Amino acid sequence: MKDEMRITMLGCGTSTGVPTIGCKCEVCTSEDPKNKRSRSSILISYGGGNVLVDTAPELRLQCLANNVDKVNAVLFTHSHADHIHGIDELRIFNWLLQDVIHCYGDEGTIKHLRNIFKYIFSDERTPSYVPQLQLHVVDGEFELLGAMVVPIRLMHGPSPVLGFRIGDFAYMTDCNYVPPESMKLLEGLELMILGALRYEPHPTHFSLQEGIELARKVGVERVVFTHLNHNLDYGEVNAQLPEGMALGHDGLVVHL
Ligand SMILES: [Zn+2]
Ligand SMILES: [Zn+2]
Ligand SMILES: [Zn+2]
Repeated sequence: MKDEMRITMLGCGTSTGVPTIGCKCEVCTSEDPKNKRSRSSILISYGGGNVLVDTAPELRLQCLANNVDKVNAVLFTHSHADHIHGIDELRIFNWLLQDVIHCYGDEGTIKHLRNIFKYIFSDERTPSYVPQLQLHVVDGEFELLGAMVVPIRLMHGPSPVLGFRIGDFAYMTDCNYVPPESMKLLEGLELMILGALRYEPHPTHFSLQEGIELARKVGVERVVFTHLNHNLDYGEVNAQLPEGMALGHDGLVVHL
């Protein structure tokens, strides 16, 4: 029997979050709670543990809202601020786990984390409690909680970033190009969470239309779009999307 996997969408917003500070547009002032988007991150639960993807600035609030009380490991897609600035909140998970937390990313991301968060990764001992993290450079498939994690190389404008596949699920947030060798890694997917920023094309993110086209090309059964900006009204867009495709919302839980 296949092990069950549960994916919790902790956040599905673009880098500014929705509502966007100072904006009075229809989505930013909407009363629909599904139009309130914290920065993009997911939690993948399987094998008796939880794998967090990215540490969004709202990580603490996201964990409280979704009753997350365990993080065994973190996968980093890339080092943009909206994907890493909640890293300090991992402290409490060290305490709950009574162990170090293993963090995985590509070489550039790991280097950037070391640079930006010197207080976490310096060898100097401080009296304050900093996250206990062990960084790993990903250079191929690796095992985590008894399943293989397949890194998927993607382009986010000029920057190489990672998506991740575990079983028949793939998470690909910030990107606007999937190289042919990565397309091969997406065969037979059941669920894909894919970044789609807005209606209009953008230099570093897929637009909604481009996301739909990619999903069709991949032939995936079910697609949930993430990293959404304030262009996209939850109800309005979902009423128009093809079958099997939907905008995500903070707190969405999908079982596989
Ligand atoms: Zn982002
Ligand atoms: Zn707005
Ligand atoms: Zn980014």
